[in-house]
Amino acid sequence: FIEENMKAAIAQRQFQMYLQPKYSISHNAIVGAEALVRWLHPVKGIIYPSEFIPVLEENGFIRNVDYYIWEEACRFIKRCEQEGMEGCPVSVNVSRHHLVEDEFIEVLDGLIDKIGIDKQSLELEITETVNNQQVSEMSNRLKDEGFMLLMDDFGSGYSSLSILLETPFDVIKIDKKFMENMLVSKRGKLILEQVVAMAGKLDLGLLAEGVETREQVEFLKEIGCDMVQGFYYAKPMPAEEFYEL
Ligand code: C2E
Ligand code: CA
Ligand code: CA
Repeated sequence: FIEENMKAAIAQRQFQMYLQPKYSISHNAIVGAEALVRWLHPVKGIIYPSEFIPVLEENGFIRNVDYYIWEEACRFIKRCEQEGMEGCPVSVNVSRHHLVEDEFIEVLDGLIDKIGIDKQSLELEITETVNNQQVSEMSNRLKDEGFMLLMDDFGSGYSSLSILLETPFDVIKIDKKFMENMLVSKRGKLILEQVVAMAGKLDLGLLAEGVETREQVEFLKEIGCDMVQGFYYAKPMPAEEFYEL
């Protein structure tokens, strides 16, 4: 179904950019957003990324979906700027497919030029893969070009400390599995505390994902992690709704 319908879905604008706010705990204010794709199918209704992204990752079509979402994000940023709302960067996900070829940098530069936004307001979320070497090289190039880089899903999967050494990320996003599993034990809390301390010493920004409860917010506040994203504050929502918020 996905393979048969993905091209029409792009052409008919069935993919939609949802935005999930990022909050500062101490300011109790929105400090940015992450763009997340949804497939609004005319018959099937809303289809979530977990259902179609694995297929699109496998056949490479995720590139096209990413380009589409990046453009939507740039347009949203432009709109905010035009209406005097500064200081709300939007981060987009960058599939590992892009990181092994140059094309996507030209696409990004092209979009930023065409739509006319500040490079710093479009942040790039990168997930580590098996091939950290390649990710490192590409990330270094992006950094040189002036992009803000967020390391997605830190603390899970292939995430390793060595990539922190080789790659100049600006922000690390602590994986939501971390929130679920770590905060239930004393040992887990200690690990998280040390990650926060490490980020501080490395001058890295830090954001905790998947924050769902008051207790998690309290604990993060206590150990000095100020930026959060999660259902406790808000779920991903249509761009229009985020704009209103
Ligand atoms: P991700 O980049 O780690 O995005 C965060 C996911 O966590 C989102 O799932 C979000 O809805 C969910 N989330 C946020 N707060 C909470 C919370 O408090 N609790 C729980 N349980 N979940 C929370 P979503 O939107 O279903 O996206 C899943 C994954 O699909 C994303 O994980 C990302 O890897 C991928 N994805 C989504 N949109 C895009 C896209 O445009 N391009 C690419 N390449 N990948 C995308
Ligand atoms: Ca992400
Ligand atoms: Ca993540």
